[in-house]
Amino acid sequence: MQGLSWCVCLGGVSMAKEWAKGFYKCKAWQRCREGYIQSVMGLCERCGAGGKIVHHIVELTPESINNPEVSLNWNNLELLCQDCHNEHHHGGGSTTQGIRFDEDGNVYEVKPL
Ligand SMILES: [Zn+2]
Ligand SMILES: [Zn+2]
Repeated sequence: MQGLSWCVCLGGVSMAKEWAKGFYKCKAWQRCREGYIQSVMGLCERCGAGGKIVHHIVELTPESINNPEVSLNWNNLELLCQDCHNEHHHGGGSTTQGIRFDEDGNVYEVKPL
């Protein structure tokens, strides 16, 4: 499982934030991520290509990153290939389940246009 990466998925910017670096280095996340990748057989869940990025469906915040129900919950993970991940963040703008956090950490639904 070399070369796989992940995104922080915060505000549509998929890059490691300073506050997220400790989390992404921690063993609990690495075990969670690897187990999840194996559970979907390493394939992109949208198009079936080779998955590259473990995406958090509900975006992580400095608060929710400490909540395993969000950050380490397989139900909140999706394995995507680079293309599908780019499309997710820079394309249509809707999430898989239409759920996002607002700036205060409240969950709200985003209806596809
Ligand atoms: Zn993402
Ligand atoms: Zn894909």
